[in-house]
Amino acid sequence: MVKNLDEETNETEQLENDVAEEIKTKSLEVDMQGKVNDDFSEDDETKFVMPGEFIGTIEELKPGVGTFSYVSDIHATTTGILRVDKKSRIISVTPKTNYPPTIAVNNIVIGSVVGVKESVVLIEIVAIKDEGERGFQKTGNAAIHVSNVKDSYCKKLDEEFAVGDIIKAKVLNIDNMRLSTAEKELGVMKAQCYNCHIALVLDDNKLKCPQCGRVEKRKISSDYGTGIV
Ligand code: ZN
Repeated sequence: MVKNLDEETNETEQLENDVAEEIKTKSLEVDMQGKVNDDFSEDDETKFVMPGEFIGTIEELKPGVGTFSYVSDIHATTTGILRVDKKSRIISVTPKTNYPPTIAVNNIVIGSVVGVKESVVLIEIVAIKDEGERGFQKTGNAAIHVSNVKDSYCKKLDEEFAVGDIIKAKVLNIDNMRLSTAEKELGVMKAQCYNCHIALVLDDNKLKCPQCGRVEKRKISSDYGTGIV
């Protein structure tokens, strides 16, 4: 019984030694291939990088497609999957086009007004311009501050927006999702009559209800009613 246990222990030890030897050999192989960092292994399909992200140094790797080098650092120029060719040591980023785009500063977004407060209008972003029907990574509600509504002074937000309006806006910052409608093509794209709930039509720079004749004020986009985003 005691003997059997000893034998088992020996076998286990031998197995551990084998594994240790294998690990040693493998790490030696990696060293021979130019100190390729495990994080950048071509087998790592899930390694996503973002534009500007640091991905390696020119001492170790050669910058390829989808990368740029600055001093000795290599960065990604696009969102995609990081790849390292172990033979040539070329590091590249393959754009992942079906990856949902993220909202970025200066993006033009389409949204609907979900709230009009004293100093901010709350917007639910529904699409990013030029991204078509592709989804995007939702961020929660965005806001247009009273100071970013138009070039001229904005006195009352409820004279510029109403809940349910479809708007086009530019992204000012993504940390607190601030938008602007200050440019002439930005602002309300579609609005409904408060009484009749039908689309207001543009009539001499004013929005007028074709049914009851009610005139409503908005920060109107120059693309109002055209359906052009
Ligand atoms: Zn009406």
